[in-house]
Amino acid sequence: MIDVAVVGGGISGLSVAYRLKAEGIKVKVFEREDQPGGSVRTLKIKGYICELGPQTVLADKEVTEFIKSTGIEPVFASEESKIRYIYKGGKLIPVPLSPVSFLTSPLLSLKGKLCVLAEPIARKRTKEEESVAEFVKRRFGEEFLENIVAPFLSGVYAGDPERLSVKYAVKRVYELEEKFGSVIKGAIKLKALGPRGRLISFREGFYQFIEHLSQNLDIELGSPVLNITKKEDKYIITTSKDKYEAKIVVLAVPSYSLAYILRSLYPSVAEEFDKIEYAPLVVINLGVEKGNIPPGFGFLIPRKEGKRILGVIFSSHLFPGRSPEDKELLTVYIGGATDPEAVELEEDELLKTVKEELREILGIENIDFHHIKKWRKAIPQYNLGHGRYYELRDDIENNFKGIIITGNFLDGVSMADCIRNSKRIAEKVKALK
Ligand SMILES: Cc1cc2nc3c(=O)[nH]c(=O)nc-3n(C[C@H](O)[C@H](O)[C@H](O)COP(=O)(O)OP(=O)(O)OC[C@H]3O[C@@H](n4cnc5c(N)ncnc54)[C@H](O)[C@@H]3O)c2cc1C
Repeated sequence: MIDVAVVGGGISGLSVAYRLKAEGIKVKVFEREDQPGGSVRTLKIKGYICELGPQTVLADKEVTEFIKSTGIEPVFASEESKIRYIYKGGKLIPVPLSPVSFLTSPLLSLKGKLCVLAEPIARKRTKEEESVAEFVKRRFGEEFLENIVAPFLSGVYAGDPERLSVKYAVKRVYELEEKFGSVIKGAIKLKALGPRGRLISFREGFYQFIEHLSQNLDIELGSPVLNITKKEDKYIITTSKDKYEAKIVVLAVPSYSLAYILRSLYPSVAEEFDKIEYAPLVVINLGVEKGNIPPGFGFLIPRKEGKRILGVIFSSHLFPGRSPEDKELLTVYIGGATDPEAVELEEDELLKTVKEELREILGIENIDFHHIKKWRKAIPQYNLGHGRYYELRDDIENNFKGIIITGNFLDGVSMADCIRNSKRIAEKVKALK
């Protein structure tokens, strides 16, 4: 019999397993794939270190401390990564970093800027639940939505602001309005305008952290869990290879896998989790000659600019050693909830589009190397009505003591959220023991 079974060896499951093991609890991880890590994949090729999944994590004190406590040192992103651009009207325009640069920035018209400055006296909410688009238009105006918020949301969720719920997708911003009646006033009061933490990665890329976390854990790789049933006070875990018994099962799989695994135990509730939408995303890593890339983190493209690229990260500007000395590494994102067909395009077509658009935007003529990774279900969408999934999770956990549900479809999509949540999940496990 297993003390604690963790199903899913992505960052959520591995962080929970690591914390439990550190407290002397016996834990076994079941992972469907032949390697752990889930969305985290790093490819080392031709002198480049390419991230096929997450590129960097905004690590606050808690996340940094957890990482360091595991015995590995993160690397911090360069100073220049504070510079970000929005592509507008054929130019890369720096995102303003201070109130003065906001007032002089060409990103918004005078009318657009006045709408932002008038946010503290914006109309009150009249709907029970608003989309991000409705919220931002009401408080900051349409231009701010199109030119700034929507591109940034595509950078986090690859999402559609017309469908994302402000209450669940950007909870921090929603709460500022709830508590202070104004996002700007609240942010000034809480000194919450800047990013919370520093961008980090690891010397050999993000997968180095996965390898490090996994090395002393008991992980059953290539073992998809097919079903979970209950027998007296134990759960029977059926994998493709064997059957196991456990008193406590932490489910750290995507919501569609959760629906499948719990279909016998609690069919009516489990099937609801199959309805959470995931945005598809294509990640294209490109090696290019030095000389054309401006300093900074990268750029985002508002949809109305008519390009297929959502955004580009200047990966070799963020962390050292990501490209050969005379080259640069770019990571390009295409697709998302507003362009789901992109993931169906042939690789040749994707590459042709990217080359054409990068020639126009950055003047890049030659590509040294490329790699294309298609994620059909990349990022879960916290769309309108997402709140019901917290009730459904509680329903499952209350009816089936010993089942604990976590993962990026509930308490935040960033890696930092997954790591922070693992502490709460480990506490829940300990309380059940
Ligand atoms: C392309 C891309 C770019 C991203 N960029 C960033 C970024 O720059 N910064 C950031 O903070 N976040 C980023 N994210 C988000 C972040 O990577 C994810 O939210 C996070 O890694 C999710 O971790 P998880 O463990 O919850 O889920 P997953 O990583 O999805 O892990 C779930 C695991 O469960 C396994 N599994 C599924 N079904 C079963 C089963 N039946 N039995 C056993 N195992 C199963 C899967 O194989 C997988 O390993 C990005 C995501 C993607 C896809």
